[in-house]
Amino acid sequence: MRILIVEDETKLAEALKRGLELKGFAVDWLADSEKARTRILLYRNEYDLILLDLMLPGIDGATICRDARAEGVTTPIIILTARDETENKVELLNLGADDYIAKPFSFEELVARITAVLRRPAETLPTTLIVRDIVLDPGRRVVEKSEVAVPLTLKEYSLLEFFMRHPDEALSRETIMDHVWSFDFPGFSNVLDVHMKNLRKKLDTYETTDPLFETVRGVGYRLNG
Ligand code: CA
Repeated sequence: MRILIVEDETKLAEALKRGLELKGFAVDWLADSEKARTRILLYRNEYDLILLDLMLPGIDGATICRDARAEGVTTPIIILTARDETENKVELLNLGADDYIAKPFSFEELVARITAVLRRPAETLPTTLIVRDIVLDPGRRVVEKSEVAVPLTLKEYSLLEFFMRHPDEALSRETIMDHVWSFDFPGFSNVLDVHMKNLRKKLDTYETTDPLFETVRGVGYRLNG
């Protein structure tokens, strides 16, 4: 899952980025509100969630949120707001935000809010993802195959979650990289193949004529349901 942080406080933004990356999210951070608005409108499909600070120099978070919704961006948005800011909850939600959290907040609370927003049925994200005998629980971040827990690295987990949210779709290498790795990832080209090889080793025990992960030549990979 890929998150965009729009926040002008460098220390806070860096701490959030680091913490969320340790939780397995791919995270981009923008401090400039004009750039953020452009990024959200142009790359709307590449983010699974946006953390949006309310008080930004230039265009404020409220305007960015309202513009994004007016332009049809449906990506979940959580607003970060200082306690002394006048907006009440109703006003924030009326802007089209999915939730808000008042600063200072604990990191664990933010992660709980993120998890809750990503699980909302309105976004048709089921609580548990099931493909064949593989069950992935985004709440507990646990993967089981035939009811036996499969230990995965954070990146393998993120990769599998993305595939399980798009079963039977041929996903291009670019799309996969965009959702699982950060915008500023200085990637080496075979990083995806290395992770796919490891995932196959751990999960793809099916007949070779009916593999779980299929290489789609010239495109990328497909998870066969
Ligand atoms: Ca701010």
